[in-house]
Amino acid sequence: MGPKELRDFAAGLGEKPFRGDQLAAWLYRKGAVSFSEMTDISLSARALFSENAELGPIVTISRREPSQDGAVKFLNLLPDGEMVESVLIRERDRVTLCVSSQVGCALGCAFCRTGTMGLRRDLTQGEIIGQILAARKEIPDPIGNLVFMGMGEPLLNRPWLHKALSVILDPRYLAVPHKGLTVSTVGPIPGLKAFGAAFPTVPLAISLNAADQSLRESLMPVARKYPLKDLKEALLAYPLPPKRRLTIAWVLLDGVNDSLADARALSRFLGGLRAKVNLIPFNPWPGAPFGRPSEKRVLEFQELLLGKKITTIVRKSRGSQVGGACGQ
Ligand code: SF4
Repeated sequence: MGPKELRDFAAGLGEKPFRGDQLAAWLYRKGAVSFSEMTDISLSARALFSENAELGPIVTISRREPSQDGAVKFLNLLPDGEMVESVLIRERDRVTLCVSSQVGCALGCAFCRTGTMGLRRDLTQGEIIGQILAARKEIPDPIGNLVFMGMGEPLLNRPWLHKALSVILDPRYLAVPHKGLTVSTVGPIPGLKAFGAAFPTVPLAISLNAADQSLRESLMPVARKYPLKDLKEALLAYPLPPKRRLTIAWVLLDGVNDSLADARALSRFLGGLRAKVNLIPFNPWPGAPFGRPSEKRVLEFQELLLGKKITTIVRKSRGSQVGGACGQ
């Protein structure tokens, strides 16, 4: 239950609706796992709640795989036995959690291991938030950054994503700052429009990977339904706040989309857009049909874009030793 459902729950039992706000604060701010912890709620109300509801973690971590670079991959067990992964990444004083939005994914991007699974189901609001609550118990430091770059396409699970984000961003509950959150998408256009209207201040990353229609279709079947020209139009119309930029993510695949011609095509695609580019050299996984380009090729690609005054960063992926890096 989210805050609204908790208010309705309290009211339905004859309690004041603000008791629902107290429950939400205990669950989402303090991570309570029992009613007995909720000491600012009267004993009689706690007894009433515990007679009428079951309380406990929705997501439990069933495996932890630490990588030598400091990242930890978690296997999260869901109530029906399905599982999704999340990855905790520490960089100096910065703690980032990468979470999943679906069990598997229907979109089948050729460079993505999740894409080989197909879609099993969407994650609920509670399961999305549950990954954060479970990870919070693993480390003493607060999780200041949250990225939706795990399994699944978040904008194809909008109803639950939007509900979860309203709790994640709320200063009374999980209090993740807007700037600390990034939602990554391949760009289903109805989802982009709805997300921009609901959360214009939440940073958005577009996984582009090809600026040529036929190449993008071959790497990302979703491009058949939402061609590049429509995607560009939707990005031009995206309600970006002043001084903010979109992030364009580009997984560099050896000999596929890492040539200078590809970089030029990308710079043309970016014309008129407020955007920066994140380059992600491919992280191989067993059976993957692609290789990682040489560092020289990566730097040449970056330099061409920088020469065109496009902010371009080569991302260092964490967690690759445990299959926890981007694409794995
Ligand atoms: Fe799905 Fe994202 Fe993987 Fe594509 S990259 S298959 S959208 S999880």
